[in-house]
Amino acid sequence: MAATRRQKAVIIGAGIVGAASAYFLAKAGFEVRVVEAAAPASAASGAADGAVSVASKRPGPLMEAAIEGVETYRQLHASGLLEGLFRQRSTFMLAQDEDEDEVLAAHAAALAASGVEIRQHGTKALHSVVSNLASGVRSAVEVRGEGHAIGYEIVNRLLVASGATVMRGCHVHDINPADRSRSIDLLHTTAGKIEADVVVLAAGGGSASLLGLEGVLRPRKGQLLVTERAPSLNAGLPGSLMSCRYLMSKDSTEARMTQTGRRFGLVIDPLRTGQFLIGGTREETDDRGTDAGAARLLLREAVALVPRLGELRLLRSFAGVRTATVDGRPLIGRAPAFDNVIVATGFEGDGICLGPLTGRIVAALASGHAVPIDLAPFDPGRFGARRQAA
Ligand SMILES: Cc1cc2nc3c(=O)[nH]c(=O)nc-3n(C[C@H](O)[C@H](O)[C@H](O)COP(=O)(O)OP(=O)(O)OC[C@H]3O[C@@H](n4cnc5c(N)ncnc54)[C@H](O)[C@@H]3O)c2cc1C
Repeated sequence: MAATRRQKAVIIGAGIVGAASAYFLAKAGFEVRVVEAAAPASAASGAADGAVSVASKRPGPLMEAAIEGVETYRQLHASGLLEGLFRQRSTFMLAQDEDEDEVLAAHAAALAASGVEIRQHGTKALHSVVSNLASGVRSAVEVRGEGHAIGYEIVNRLLVASGATVMRGCHVHDINPADRSRSIDLLHTTAGKIEADVVVLAAGGGSASLLGLEGVLRPRKGQLLVTERAPSLNAGLPGSLMSCRYLMSKDSTEARMTQTGRRFGLVIDPLRTGQFLIGGTREETDDRGTDAGAARLLLREAVALVPRLGELRLLRSFAGVRTATVDGRPLIGRAPAFDNVIVATGFEGDGICLGPLTGRIVAALASGHAVPIDLAPFDPGRFGARRQAA
């Protein structure tokens, strides 16, 4: 799979992972075609919050990947590519009771041990740095040097910059070659057959049936709220606010569920428009509907952290479906059953942060170059599904 001149790379899926793969493969000299069943950013990448953040990542491979993910955004921003789209800011992780103080202290230690720049704020210092917090917020860890990016804006910028051919409304049926060979030279799609030297499977939830990983990749819906513009309130928040319960929600702890079995973790993101984005739930379904119960839950928690949010009008709610894996780690790497297929899916709530990094990784793998992080924890072959087995 060495990157010879004008090799054909076909990417399945135009979410942020597919778009970033297109950008970096084109830079590496490939002729790139993106095959998208609906429209670019029409799935999770167009319905996300957009935290480009290490703060919430579990210590270990995901935290290490996120550190490199944030660095990739910084580099792309410095190059001018993400001008106007990537907003650098801190994340403030807030504790409201003793249990949360403990969770936060342990998490801060893990972040610091990984080399992440943090600042710990006691009650008094915190309330002078972040305005309008409820008096019950006791302490915070500020994770510095992070950022925010709107998924669909990044997808659009990367696709345009890649110069790739994007086939909208084109569905890939199957990635198994008829003769069971180890190489996929032709992809069968609703628009006919497409030739490929390299295939990148970046189809989010659609990857499950193509890989035979239906039991491994799972939908996890999230509902989010958007408020009206409130520039002065917005200016008083120097970064996003994340309740410690977000960490607990990510760890799937039964005790953190609401009575209805709905998990959630609160994030309040001050957008560059002056609005606030408030999220999000974690629900085991692929239904993209929103409901008043979720809005009530998120608003109650948000107003408990920043009471003045209660003065704002809610403009809209929306939902997206994350693609989660059963072990909480994405699949990034070569598909073991094939010589020319690279898999990049299962990013759950981290794909906006990890998307551009993953594009770098995909291009490095396709070109036979060294990858920027250890891929062993993300090996697509670790579940041994039928089309994964070599
Ligand atoms: C509510 C919510 C909040 C989130 N917040 C954050 C956040 O703050 N920070 C963060 O880092 N991440 C966040 N995420 C996660 C992030 O949005 C996803 O991890 C990321 O968008 C996944 O990108 P993707 O390219 O892998 O998949 P997707 O965006 O799902 O794209 C996959 C594409 O593949 C196409 N496709 C599927 N099957 C086929 C097929 N057979 N043929 C052709 N095309 C196909 C689909 O139509 C789709 O467009 C959030 C997600 C949600 C839902």
